[in-house]
Amino acid sequence: MYYKESINQEKENIMPNTLGKIIAVANQKGGVGKTTSSVNLAAALAGKRKKVLIVDSDPQGNASSGVGLSVQSRKKHLYHAYTGDTPIADILCGTGVKNLKVVPSSIDLVATEIELVAAPGRERVLKGILEELRGSFDFIFIDCPPSLGLLTVNALTASDSVLIPLQCEYFAMEGLAQLVSTIRSVKKSYNKNLFIEGLLLTMYDKRNKLTFQVADKITEHFQKQVYSTVIPRNVRLSECPSHGQTIIEYDNQSTGAQAYNQLANEFLRKQG
Ligand code: ATP
Ligand code: MG
Repeated sequence: MYYKESINQEKENIMPNTLGKIIAVANQKGGVGKTTSSVNLAAALAGKRKKVLIVDSDPQGNASSGVGLSVQSRKKHLYHAYTGDTPIADILCGTGVKNLKVVPSSIDLVATEIELVAAPGRERVLKGILEELRGSFDFIFIDCPPSLGLLTVNALTASDSVLIPLQCEYFAMEGLAQLVSTIRSVKKSYNKNLFIEGLLLTMYDKRNKLTFQVADKITEHFQKQVYSTVIPRNVRLSECPSHGQTIIEYDNQSTGAQAYNQLANEFLRKQG
């Protein structure tokens, strides 16, 4: 029964820049702000009356707890959609933010990464799962784990675009080259329309000289693909997950909330 729906699920790609857009938030480097950005950009967009879904595709389940879903409350999660046990529509959960829903994750997703290896059409399973949700949301963000394994490849195959959070530090560029090469090979083999939505500089520290040097290098290389909004290091952003709240709920006046609201505006402007 495993992954029985994975074959023949290649449907027509919806053109980029239409509603119902799916965006993978990916970087194999750990702790660069993938989850913080998925959750808070999604919440900021929901605050602007967009219908938004977060798909927590990381076994760590940080995005799920970040929007207030305790481990105990997650009866059904993405793992059950991957196995074909439960329709995705029955896994969606509401959050404390109006217009924002989540497909939660759990540690069981570790097994998915392993079990997918032997599955036919193993790179396209998530694409098949998410296609039916497209019409119900304006934006679907997939929060990826810190690896380039099959969960991330599934997210990239299922997405129209990829948003790359980057911390301005010395090793950021090295990891980026590897990520861009993975995006290129997914594009070639499974998802020819995939494009880079934007690179987002996170935990930006304007007092640190290295921040400027790395930001300059990234902008020199990726130019307009880098968001002009940067996310500053802000203690309120690091506090809000422990309250199960997005920054918009926790402290909408904080510099972190202002930055994600500004990013949401820039993101929407880029949609044309
Ligand atoms: P992982 O690779 O483990 O999934 P990640 O890329 O999703 O990590 P986050 O969990 O978003 O990264 O962030 C890593 C840590 O840094 C968290 O403790 C988070 O609260 C904190 N953090 C993220 N962004 C900021 C910020 N702008 N200011 C302060 N702290 C931040
Ligand atoms: Mg994360």
